[in-house]
Amino acid sequence: MNEPLLTRLTWFQKQFPLEPSFRWKQIQTGLFHPNFTDWHQVLTIPFSVRNKLKEEIPWLSFVIQNMFVSKEKNTYKALFSLQDGFLIESVIMKNTRKQWTVCVSSQVGCAMRCTFCATGKMGLKRNLLSDEIVDQYRFWQIYLSSHISTSERISNVVFMGMGEPLANYESVREALHDLLAFTSLGSTRITVSTVGIIPRLEQILTDPKWPAVRLAISLHSADPITRKQIIPSSYDDFFKKLITWSKKYQEKIAHRRQHLTFEYILLRGINDDEHHAKALVKLIHLITNVRVNLIPYNITDPALKKTSKQQMDFFQNYLKEHGVQVTIRKSFGDEIQAACGQLVI
Ligand code: SF4
Repeated sequence: MNEPLLTRLTWFQKQFPLEPSFRWKQIQTGLFHPNFTDWHQVLTIPFSVRNKLKEEIPWLSFVIQNMFVSKEKNTYKALFSLQDGFLIESVIMKNTRKQWTVCVSSQVGCAMRCTFCATGKMGLKRNLLSDEIVDQYRFWQIYLSSHISTSERISNVVFMGMGEPLANYESVREALHDLLAFTSLGSTRITVSTVGIIPRLEQILTDPKWPAVRLAISLHSADPITRKQIIPSSYDDFFKKLITWSKKYQEKIAHRRQHLTFEYILLRGINDDEHHAKALVKLIHLITNVRVNLIPYNITDPALKKTSKQQMDFFQNYLKEHGVQVTIRKSFGDEIQAACGQLVI
């Protein structure tokens, strides 16, 4: 069977109609237990039910093929083999505040072709099922408990791994619901990052089932020609649509204490000069309540170069001087090809 795990549990529920309703809560709680790796550890469930579950439903929807660990042991990258043989990567990082963030993949490959991104060069193979997304969280929580310390917990989940999350809207939405329902993560601890698929962004505004998690737009330039060069899938009138959408987002979602983030990878000689800083400031002043996350480029293509530290500081200071809230993201795991834009199989 290859259906999502929780869908399969619904099927299982039909097979055991006489089981008390609390049984399904026990099953879900067992699945998200940080130390459990097998149905037979869920002792709250009768032996016969555990046996049937073990026969029908694998504990995880993929098998680990390889694990890469950074020198400082603050970044781990796992290679997983899915049930149909496709491979995905998933990453966990420990920040300077000692919090663990999981970076999940939402697709096998990606169709968006961003020039700085190794995943984009693979093309799209298929969407992940919601359970294949949620199981990345479950895998890493078990890994932390068994390999690092039993008390370690995941603090944040970011949808910034392989794939464009909003191109797999339904499964991502289902995965978000599962993460919010079965883990202790609150909605401000989960961020979905997107290149900005406008119809899906519009859908979020009117979709009562879309949970109020944080959104990050991969902008990378506020200049239309440069953005199209970096993200070939970008719409011709992207900025007009983005400004209109952002204003609606601020009106509808701002009351839920959510802010928008613009992700901006700095590429030497492409988007890191004063002209680009000025264009970004102008855009943000039109939208307001946006934070900017500057990201150092992690080399995936020899044709693209990293912006120097000096130029990065200039860019950050220019934004700050013009009233923009801006941070530079610390890069994790580039020596194991686990940093932003480097995931590929
Ligand atoms: S950066 Fe994200 S959206 Fe762009 S190609 Fe890579 S995975 Fe796809």
